[in-house]
Amino acid sequence: MTNQKLISIVIPAYNEAENIPVIAAGIKAVFEGLSGYLFEIIFVADGCTDRSMAVLEMMAQHSDHIFYVEFSRNFGHQLAVKAGMDHARGAGVICMDGDMQHPPELIPQLIEKWEEGYEVVYTIRKEDKRLPFKKRFTSRVFYQVLNRLASVELEQGASDFRLLDRKVVDVFKEFHENEPFLRGLVKWIGFKQYAVTYEPAARFSGHSKYSFKKMIRLALQGVTSFSIKPLYNVVYLGFAFSGISVLYLPYVLYAFYIGHEVSGWASLIMTIAFFGGLQLIILGIIGIYIGKMFMQVKLRPNYIVRSTNIKI
Ligand code: UDP
Ligand code: MG
Repeated sequence: MTNQKLISIVIPAYNEAENIPVIAAGIKAVFEGLSGYLFEIIFVADGCTDRSMAVLEMMAQHSDHIFYVEFSRNFGHQLAVKAGMDHARGAGVICMDGDMQHPPELIPQLIEKWEEGYEVVYTIRKEDKRLPFKKRFTSRVFYQVLNRLASVELEQGASDFRLLDRKVVDVFKEFHENEPFLRGLVKWIGFKQYAVTYEPAARFSGHSKYSFKKMIRLALQGVTSFSIKPLYNVVYLGFAFSGISVLYLPYVLYAFYIGHEVSGWASLIMTIAFFGGLQLIILGIIGIYIGKMFMQVKLRPNYIVRSTNIKI
């Protein structure tokens, strides 16, 4: 057949040696049940220190569907997905995690919506009752903070499992952000979008690479790589506090001329401590933006490929 469409599956993998063969088999099974499509699986080995690369090289030798892009070191999940999209050749590109938390069985549904004309088919994960409370709670806070602070509306549970049309992937290729926040960018980019909800599965093997610290970092990155709304908020906060201090002035004058106020050590210390902290936070926010400019302005490559079996 000549009119078979090629679908690329992009999978970032950071030490997923046990999961790689499982997800590859899962995807293969799905495509065996789908006629009219060819597929390629692109694993992006994000500085793996386990047997992942050996597994991938071996699999690539035995299958013409398996491809890999090996990073020179760990560049992080988001850049791994970006690299996969840069190397993908399909008419549609599906990004998914390598730990079976994004069920391959959903792929036909994504493709179906894509065939209906949607250029971005993204997924929303239903809340997983099996996850520990801490993980569910942080995830909820993550989306709330993000929506409030960045000028993008992300649904609770929006995940990195999605299908993008070639047109959208080509737009993404033009992005050279060194800290891309794909979930937000995908929303921001526009096009015809459709959301599919799914039940997340448990991680097949290994443990989550997102620690609490990494989550906070992703949220901060998400907000600051997205909008300058925090800077505006900080200015409003400044206005508010100046306003309040003006209201306080009559009392200070009264106390100075009429009352006999000298005490007030506690309130003074409190105020100094409070505003000291506030100023540090605000400086930090400004600092993050300056840091981002610094990193971006150097025009370093965003990721470095050590080896790949993809010829473009
Ligand atoms: N990942 C990556 N680089 C990293 C961290 C994670 O490529 O620095 C990959 C990881 O192998 C997995 C996906 O990103 O395929 C999602 O990571 P994880 O399952 O640890 O995140 P969670 O599901 O807990 O959000
Ligand atoms: Mg996972």
